[in-house]
Amino acid sequence: MNNHLLDEQRVAIQAVRVACSITTKVFQTLTSAESVTKKDKSPVTIGDFSAQAAVNHILLKHFPGDKIVGEEDSHDLQGEQGAPNRHKVSQLVNEALQASRYIDAPLSDDQLLQTIDDGVFEGGSDARFWTLDPIDGTKGFLRGGQYAVCLALIDKGRVELGVMGCPNLPRDKSQPKPKDGEIRGSKMEGLGALFVAVRGHGAYAVPIDDEQAELVPVRMRDLQGSFKGAAFCESVEASHSSLGTNARIAQILGMSDNHVRMDSQAKYASISRGDGDVYLRLPVGVGTYREKIWDHAAGALLVEEAGGRVSDIAGRPLNFGLGRTLAANRGVIACQTPMHAKLVDAVAQALKEEGRAALLAEP
Ligand code: AMP
Ligand code: MG
Repeated sequence: MNNHLLDEQRVAIQAVRVACSITTKVFQTLTSAESVTKKDKSPVTIGDFSAQAAVNHILLKHFPGDKIVGEEDSHDLQGEQGAPNRHKVSQLVNEALQASRYIDAPLSDDQLLQTIDDGVFEGGSDARFWTLDPIDGTKGFLRGGQYAVCLALIDKGRVELGVMGCPNLPRDKSQPKPKDGEIRGSKMEGLGALFVAVRGHGAYAVPIDDEQAELVPVRMRDLQGSFKGAAFCESVEASHSSLGTNARIAQILGMSDNHVRMDSQAKYASISRGDGDVYLRLPVGVGTYREKIWDHAAGALLVEEAGGRVSDIAGRPLNFGLGRTLAANRGVIACQTPMHAKLVDAVAQALKEEGRAALLAEP
């Protein structure tokens, strides 16, 4: 089967690489640990807007007819109040686009804001569109932990291509992940992995900063029918996922308490190459939160193409064709395909025990 998305794949990889160069630079210019613990969100704001502007610009240059569902819009950069951050974003974006030869002359402020707002598409099941999370895991980004630049192409509600840049994830899976904050100040070697998945064509990894390197296939670990010895990944933020329920599911399945907490879709990347085996994102409370499509599109395809199945907590496939949210799904779980039915059963049992079985119904 020919990969009919080779052009899209090449451009998406390029766009994510440019965005990662920007976010890395923003991170490095955070002066001290102190500057990221205070309430000042500006560093992350600048990184988010700049990465979205760069990716949108590159995508639309190659595919001018395409639509984009991006997480950000330019509102906070407008007017006098937005001027200080707007100027920083302008400098970062213009430098990065000029260095990668996408523009000769700098974008004006109006062009910059418009480019960010090219990401306002509402999604749906008719059009082909891209979805972008310019910095997924902003808390991880600020902590000096894991974050990811996540880009996916969706056609008629189905994810066809996913590209994810994880600047703080070791390229080599045998290398230990840096502890949160460890990378600040000291340059750590061997970090920066980029993941690519094309529906029907597999899942791959490549170093972010080596444009000559070839894509190397990644595969989930074969659990051989047993969750014993399996490890699960979950959010750092307790408000994003019910950590107590996750622990009970692991116990029901006989998984050791072997789990890794990390921010962002780096969790999907991690299980796709066998660092861990199971992704658990159980809804908190009464499950009113609706997951956003840009938080899952690239990661879900990556895991599927590496031999996994991704669903909501009731085992329903994720429906990316209903707008900007996964409106027909609650929570997310993923593991190797042959083990998925057992995982769904364990989730149902844990929720019943908690008196939250109602969450299994379609929202
Ligand atoms: P993670 O790093 O996996 O915890 O996920 C980060 C993403 O969680 C962010 O990009 C948010 O869009 C999303 N998020 C925000 N609030 C919630 C919530 N209550 N439940 C689940 N995800 C959330
Ligand atoms: Mg996100």
